[in-house]
Amino acid sequence: MDRTTLLKSVLNALPMPALAVGRGERILHMNQNAAAMVGGDLSGRHYITVLRQPALLDAIEACLRDNQSRSARFLGRGGGQDITYDVSIAAMQGDNPIGVLLTFQDVSDIEGVGQMRRDFVANVSHELRTPLTALSGFIETLQGAARNDPAAQTHFLGMMTQEATRMNRLVHDLLSLSRVESEARVRPGGRCDITAVLRETIEIMDKSARDTGVEITYDGPPEPIWIAGDRDQLTMVFRNLVENGIKYGSGTVTVATRVTDHDPALRGAGVVVDVSDDGDGIDPHHLPRLTERFYRVDTHRSRELGGTGLGLAIVKHILGRHRGRLRISSVVGEGSTFSAILPLT
Ligand code: ADP
Repeated sequence: MDRTTLLKSVLNALPMPALAVGRGERILHMNQNAAAMVGGDLSGRHYITVLRQPALLDAIEACLRDNQSRSARFLGRGGGQDITYDVSIAAMQGDNPIGVLLTFQDVSDIEGVGQMRRDFVANVSHELRTPLTALSGFIETLQGAARNDPAAQTHFLGMMTQEATRMNRLVHDLLSLSRVESEARVRPGGRCDITAVLRETIEIMDKSARDTGVEITYDGPPEPIWIAGDRDQLTMVFRNLVENGIKYGSGTVTVATRVTDHDPALRGAGVVVDVSDDGDGIDPHHLPRLTERFYRVDTHRSRELGGTGLGLAIVKHILGRHRGRLRISSVVGEGSTFSAILPLT
């Protein structure tokens, strides 16, 4: 087998896009994955006309010159999406130097995770800075203008308590989310009676709801409904959903439970808990994004009502861990129903 045939068969056997550039700066061969990446088999062309990104071109040129391995980033497209590749550029050396070998590793997923992490840190910092800025302002006022004014001091200390409570809530929700995420792949070990959890949750929340003029009603079978689940986490799910009903509703929150032999979302038997309110409802284009961390329809309103923007993200993760689903339906001007669907077995 001659050298060119051997090179072609090696490149064709590689699972990732790969191509070889000869000493004459032309592409000796590219495998099918590389051809798909650059939009056709461009073997024989000068590499500059095929790989037009300066960082990669510089690295190839340098490797051809000194035979030292390098790496560079290459941005491609595939399936209508941007793909980020880590390209390894290595000299192919035999008795005589042959050229350089380029192998492309798709690192889009890793890049995506990195971007998510950066966005998350930016969001958390922003959320913490808002109450911190307010607190700094109040401290300044207490040290200055309000130094000898007991009425103003009482007023500002009250506001500072509110801001501190807001920060506390955010840190509490962040820790809950982090704990829930870290357990995402661990199946819940315990058994949990959904009827009891709902009754208890409603009983605890009823007092504060009544104080704000909201009535919570329960509509479900009286007997226990046992599922495999973590009682504390499921309590967190229903508490978040009922709390949202109280915050964004107009006076009535209904919690309804039913057992079904077949739910399409589970493809099996399940228990469905509908938490409905009579609020303004949610425009349909927001629905797919509501469970993203920090996504709010109206940030100002959420903050005013003491929201952190993390409640539904926590709910989604807990339900996912229980092999359950969250279904949201809403009619603008009429209200919303958030349904927690959990498998019975
Ligand atoms: P928040 O702490 O802001 O309430 P969530 O994650 O619980 O955060 O909810 C995300 C967003 O979804 C809310 O800011 C709100 O815009 C919207 N939302 C949640 N529940 C309801 C509801 N019952 N009615 C209307 N909008 C809701």
